[in-house]
Amino acid sequence: MNIAILGTGLIGASLGLALRRTGLATTIVGFDRSRAHADRARRIGAIDRVARSPAAAARGADVVVIAVPVFAIVKTARAARPARGAIVTDVGSVKAPIVAALDAPNFVGAHPLAGSDHSGPDAASATLFRGRTCVVTRGAKTSARAGRAVSRLWSSVGARVVHAGAETHDRLMALSSHVPHLVAFGLALQAQPLARAWVAPSLREMTRVAGSDPALWREILLANRAVPEML
Ligand code: NAP
Repeated sequence: MNIAILGTGLIGASLGLALRRTGLATTIVGFDRSRAHADRARRIGAIDRVARSPAAAARGADVVVIAVPVFAIVKTARAARPARGAIVTDVGSVKAPIVAALDAPNFVGAHPLAGSDHSGPDAASATLFRGRTCVVTRGAKTSARAGRAVSRLWSSVGARVVHAGAETHDRLMALSSHVPHLVAFGLALQAQPLARAWVAPSLREMTRVAGSDPALWREILLANRAVPEML
């Protein structure tokens, strides 16, 4: 299987490294707007080759994985112009707006519940997805073939695949991930003036995820702002 990974940061490069170990991928071509990230992903063995554009990466790919920040996913998927028959999937932490915008027989949304408070290919790990849940979200038009292929891709890297509608995913993620991050960022800001000696273990534990990239999280929170009824 020829795979294109568009966005070779933490998640994209980790997927490349993990796929390498499965033998499922014949070639993995990567694209990133940061040439340094793409080159680094190639040096660590996450991808075989760096492409100059999303379309160049997607050329000849059987599966195109979009692993850029949430607000860039739809634009990047459209710029990829994959071949007829190629399957397109993403890893975005919010699903409803993405699945609605890209719904087509060959598109399947996915979200691996694995990550870290570090970003970029230097933080990538071949075992990041092992034993972790990956939510696969089909749209109204998604074909059974595309759904099976994306489920198999994530199972092959050790993830436990669960299926959920995009809105259900977003509501549950608001509770289990997005609000906890929001609280942690807020708490960390409030606690900023505290001298190091006054930082108790409880504050350290509750603000660990506030070390995550605030730009990435701003997009996730904004993209999932329309589902407050569960909270
Ligand atoms: P990351 O490490 O920052 O990697 C994202 C990469 O995409 C960076 O190299 C970034 O380059 C690049 N990029 C940004 N905009 C782009 C564009 N328009 N076209 C091409 N490349 C672009 O972030 P990540 O943690 O891998 O997150 C990627 C996706 O995974 C996000 O959709 C996120 O919601 C999802 N996700 C994240 C986690 C997590 O815990 N981190 C877990 C599950 C899913 P620059 O550095 O130049 O911006």
